[in-house]
Amino acid sequence: MRLHPGIDVVGSGLLGFSISHPEDSHVYLLHDGGQAVLIDSGCGLDQDLILQHIDAADVARTAISGIYLTHAHADHSAGALGLSRELGAQVYASAEVAAIVRSGDEAAAGLEAGRLSGAYPPEVRLLPTPVTEIVDDATCEVGTLTFRAHRTSGHADGHMCFSVRVGIGLAVFTGDLLFSRGRVAVLATPDTDVSALANSIRSIAALEPELLLPGHGCVVMSGAAQHLRPALARLDGQELPPPFMV
Ligand SMILES: [Zn+2]
Repeated sequence: MRLHPGIDVVGSGLLGFSISHPEDSHVYLLHDGGQAVLIDSGCGLDQDLILQHIDAADVARTAISGIYLTHAHADHSAGALGLSRELGAQVYASAEVAAIVRSGDEAAAGLEAGRLSGAYPPEVRLLPTPVTEIVDDATCEVGTLTFRAHRTSGHADGHMCFSVRVGIGLAVFTGDLLFSRGRVAVLATPDTDVSALANSIRSIAALEPELLLPGHGCVVMSGAAQHLRPALARLDGQELPPPFMV
């Protein structure tokens, strides 16, 4: 699914466009000039569907050099091992996310609790995956595009958003930090930090993005400020923005 020249959605489950496994987060493909990276990797099941969408985007699988993880939750990270092997791509994440994904820590990835609640089928596994750590403000060139990492904790330990300037403005891949219409996902997990979440949303708003490309749900292709404004208003009133899942 082409969103913009250079940005495709190649994976997305039930909380999105249902073009790959139901448990998948959005998986974005950013490409330019014969170079490409993926943002997030889905849950690791039925990965042929993601590969088919990459092919349909007319991007060579060999062009994909990196898989950048927003955070370690299994719907975003459990597909990294299979895709990195299939594509010959390196996996990149913050130090905290790298520690979870490298060790295959299924509790920290939300998989153990998710299986018990029925949110994940037993086949979803987080297998130990080689990961290269990246820091806040790390950049990577994708053709003529500069892709940048932003530390944005709050939803989960070591969460990162990624930004890239495209024709109509700045696009921010927000993972599970912030969704369309200013929604958030605050979980009852020890690494959820509401004050950090507020600071992270403010830091993303300060980038003045035009596009918001979250890990689930609607994508915002213009006028991101309209979606940020209600979240910021709630935070200014010491309230949490409304939940993504109700
Ligand atoms: Zn998450």
